[in-house]
Amino acid sequence: MNAKILEIENLTVSFDGFKALNDLNFSMEPGELRVIIGPNGAGKTTFLDIITGKVKPTEGRVLFKGRNVRSLSEHQIARLGIGRKFQTPRVYLNLSPRENLEIACNRNKNLLSTLFKRTPIAERRTVSGLLETIGLVPKADLKANLLSHGEKQWLEIGMLVAQSPDLLLVDEPVAGLTDEETEKTGELLMSLAESHSIIVIEHDMEFVRQIARQVTVLHQGSVLCEGTIDEVQSNPQVIEVYLGREMEEDMHAVS
Ligand code: ADP
Ligand code: MG
Repeated sequence: MNAKILEIENLTVSFDGFKALNDLNFSMEPGELRVIIGPNGAGKTTFLDIITGKVKPTEGRVLFKGRNVRSLSEHQIARLGIGRKFQTPRVYLNLSPRENLEIACNRNKNLLSTLFKRTPIAERRTVSGLLETIGLVPKADLKANLLSHGEKQWLEIGMLVAQSPDLLLVDEPVAGLTDEETEKTGELLMSLAESHSIIVIEHDMEFVRQIARQVTVLHQGSVLCEGTIDEVQSNPQVIEVYLGREMEEDMHAVS
């Protein structure tokens, strides 16, 4: 039995000779909420792409729940229990949050029958539970195009959760959100972390501080360091490659 939910071993991904990921090693326990940070171009999106099977390793391997996913399609990997939240919300804008969640609970059934047949009681309960988790009970029956950007993000997170993934991958969930929405997103992810393993990629350091227990810093396609947010922020190498750069940017913004 393999205890880890995710193990990545000596992983290299080359694009025409350029190593977007370079001999990367990473592992995660079930139930962890892990935040990954790193400067632009560090390989963060590619890292998610190899977990979901969108990109295949040039060298090395990815084990999900102990299983090598190399020969599986993106679709098959998703069905093993990996859900990915993209930066732009993918929800049906002309349907309500409730209908969106009903569809997500019924991915394998026909869309029209989901909309026009009576929903079984157990499923209605699941949907109302999800609406509560994502804080959209008061807006459950409005069309999704009336939701704020943050509310659409939560709806999409709810739609992923509806499919009961073991591992949730979330790419920059608070980009473009208000401070209040950012904080609520943090609370949502922390509550989901009680029953899921979650990887969050994020730039917003204040948000990282709100949610992070363990942080992994990527730099030039490899893991530069791992630790608590305080450990990571005081690591001289990190300060040099990442926080230093951010501080420089802040200083430019001030001057
Ligand atoms: P991040 O998300 O950390 O900003 P990415 O994973 O998007 O970084 O990219 C890492 C590096 O790999 C970048 O230098 C990027 O230009 C390069 N890269 C990413 N995808 C491709 C691709 N399909 N072809 C060529 N180069 C790529
Ligand atoms: Mg990226």
